Amino acid sequence: MITFDKVTKAYPDGTTAVNELDLECPSGKITALVGPSGCGKTTSLRMINRLIEPTSGTISLDGESTADMDPALLRRRIGYVIQHAGLFPHRTIVDNVATMPKLLGKTKKEARTRAMELLETVGLAAHFADRYPWQLSGGQQQRVGVARALAADPAFMLMDEPFSAVDPVVRSQLQDEFLRLQKEIGKTIIIVTHDIDEALKLGDQVVVLRTGGVLAQAATPLELLTEPADEFVADFVGRDRGYRSLGFANLDGRVDTVAEPVARLGDSAGEALARTSDDWLLVVDPANKPIGWVQPSKVVGSIRPDDVNLSGTVADVHGTMRALLDAALSAPSKRGVVVDGDGVLVGTVTAHAAVAAIESADL
Ligand code: ATP
Repeated sequence: MITFDKVTKAYPDGTTAVNELDLECPSGKITALVGPSGCGKTTSLRMINRLIEPTSGTISLDGESTADMDPALLRRRIGYVIQHAGLFPHRTIVDNVATMPKLLGKTKKEARTRAMELLETVGLAAHFADRYPWQLSGGQQQRVGVARALAADPAFMLMDEPFSAVDPVVRSQLQDEFLRLQKEIGKTIIIVTHDIDEALKLGDQVVVLRTGGVLAQAATPLELLTEPADEFVADFVGRDRGYRSLGFANLDGRVDTVAEPVARLGDSAGEALARTSDDWLLVVDPANKPIGWVQPSKVVGSIRPDDVNLSGTVADVHGTMRALLDAALSAPSKRGVVVDGDGVLVGTVTAHAAVAAIESADL
């Protein structure tokens, strides 16, 4: 765990970049730091590995103050990835990654083997290994940057806008692969981004800073969307996602007449949702009225039959939708089912529409 305890950074010219920051970044999770330009994101990150020294306050790794650590040893415990990868231009890709294993005492051969493994881990084909950085695309260079940061097997990783220098398609692909990789490696990661969508997608915890380096809110993506601490957070999270303009019109309950209903709300609804086939299931309400179609394999992964509370009150419906949204945020194109206050399925819904629905009082 990385802990900030009343951490302030003031520059001699009077700029307060970070102001009395209290923050816990949980172990094995991704914390995304986000906020407007100049709000102190990079400064906060670089104080962790002591590239910048705080003016006051304490930063601790697993309870141990970084001020008491040798900066060089500290940096070995912390992987660091920056926007333009920062690779050594005159070394090959494999040598860039092998540098740290060599520093840690591996033989040349062992270091190369380790570097090749890491390149594979980040999805770079072996034939790139002997190229030079300038012979790689921006996205490929970022992969090398991540491989190099992993080379010392650090418990902590700091990433400063690691995916922002690549085009949107590659960025989205790198984000997905990064999330998959994190499932395997489970590092404690802090990632700086100016992109709220990226923060919501990658962060287990999202930390919104406001100008002047003041903490606005630290919460899960779902909490930020549904319970913003104040207008600043609501605007910052909402404006970029445009979710306020979405409404129930996005609900998509395609109702059709079919002779034999294959799924029935009530006792059998759970079974229907538990099916994993691609067949569209017609869902009917307790009065046998067709309500809509559900394609179980397209329903967000976290929905278990138990999650659908068929005798729910409005509060329960909100709870169900929050669970749906939580899962849907990691796969925005997937859909969840929505039940109304009587437990009747009203349709399927995208993550965006679920947010709008949660906002709307007239469920
Ligand atoms: P961006 O998203 O634009 O990269 P950021 O949130 O990462 O911004 P920081 O780079 O941490 O912001 O900078 C925070 C504030 O501190 C800014 O107002 C910046 O101008 C100021 N700052 C940074 N370095 C110095 C310095 N060496 N001297 C004076 N002010 C500085």
